Amino acid sequence: MSFEKLGIIKPILSAIKELGYEKPTTIQTRSIPLVLAKSDVFATAQTGTGKTAAFGLPMLQRLRNVTPEARVVRGLIISPTRELSIQIYEDLQNYAKHMSLNIAVFVGGKDLETQQKILKEGVDIIIATPGRVMEHVEKSLDLSHVEIFVLDEADRMLDMGFMKEIRKIHPLLPKRHQTLLFSATYSDKVRKLSKLILTKPEFIETSKKNSTVDTINQVAYLVDTDKKAPLLAYIIGSRNFRQVLVFTRTKASADELVLELKKDGLKCGIIHGDKTQANRLKTLNEFKEGKIKVLVATDIASRGLDIEELPFVINYELPSIPEDYVHRVGRTGRAGRDGVAISLIDIYEKFDIRAVEKLIGMKIPQEVVKGFEPDPTIRRKDQDEQKLKSEHKKPEPKRTKKVQPKLEKPKKEAVKKKAPTSKKRKTTKRD
Ligand code: AMP
Repeated sequence: MSFEKLGIIKPILSAIKELGYEKPTTIQTRSIPLVLAKSDVFATAQTGTGKTAAFGLPMLQRLRNVTPEARVVRGLIISPTRELSIQIYEDLQNYAKHMSLNIAVFVGGKDLETQQKILKEGVDIIIATPGRVMEHVEKSLDLSHVEIFVLDEADRMLDMGFMKEIRKIHPLLPKRHQTLLFSATYSDKVRKLSKLILTKPEFIETSKKNSTVDTINQVAYLVDTDKKAPLLAYIIGSRNFRQVLVFTRTKASADELVLELKKDGLKCGIIHGDKTQANRLKTLNEFKEGKIKVLVATDIASRGLDIEELPFVINYELPSIPEDYVHRVGRTGRAGRDGVAISLIDIYEKFDIRAVEKLIGMKIPQEVVKGFEPDPTIRRKDQDEQKLKSEHKKPEPKRTKKVQPKLEKPKKEAVKKKAPTSKKRKTTKRD
């Protein structure tokens, strides 16, 4: 298949050619004709599959005719985070560089008045976070001419509690408009939302539910909690990783980790919810330019980061929500390129890794790095404790103690008691 065959017009064809896109990805092949035919679309697509162009290219094409003296907002894209919104904006600007569309990105952290001025000058397409859209609506934004409404990473928007805003935005759109809903996962919440906002949608499912991209090599290294930072520094140093994205569960552990890595002489940056937008963008650019080797990020702050050919992602801590594992490792192996995703797991994460494996439908090989072998006494002590606790509640048949965690069904009591580092484990909703 080619972009020409999909009916993409010349100005867009030249722009994507300049970006080096040779042929459409699967999601693009399936979505472009449907969007051009004005259908509502419900697509489950992981990040890295080329989903932005899957809705962006046909959207630009549909809205290509502009009346410069009477511009109205005809396209609205909402996304969960500032970073993702900016990323979509940059992609759309690139795709529309030979067109005369005015595209604007409105996110929090930027001056509302400046954004209003931009609106007054005439905008065809807005990309924004739901909260910011509502702020503009309360001022003067008119959504009654919107022809195409896109919800990107809808699952994440719902996880972040944006349903309220979406419910408010939807009735402000004209009765006849096209809605495109993109979500990495197919949760009940997303299904409910789709019922509310889509009319006779076409469904696109490009890969197995919650599966990770095929081109990513995944491995988990078993290690004791206090050896994680040294192991991480060792992996980065000994394998000469030049650009690596490291995920932590919380802002606090991200801060602690950066201090540790700096002691090892590694140039690190950090992106999390406490950093200002300007600071996050500066860090991201330094990372993209290779000025910093290691970027430490929390889950929500990292949404939408698009770094060309990112080869390595390391989970310093597994996410508290298994679906986030899919989002995290989706930062590598993008658009068919090879990537490596390494997870450092301690004894308290052995149940978390099983939850991830259950979700992605495959086992992640577990290995030990020489010199960083887990202390068997710590494991035994933990297992003894778990055993004692469960025996106390319900007598169990005799079990043999295992040094390495085996993939067996976790006992409920053990799951509840697994996290002793409560300070580190807490995650704020809008981190
Ligand atoms: P996305 O899933 O939209 O975040 O896209 C992931 C990456 O793939 C981005 O760097 C895009 O620029 C790139 N990309 C999207 N479509 C194509 C394509 N057809 N050929 C090559 N790269 C692409």
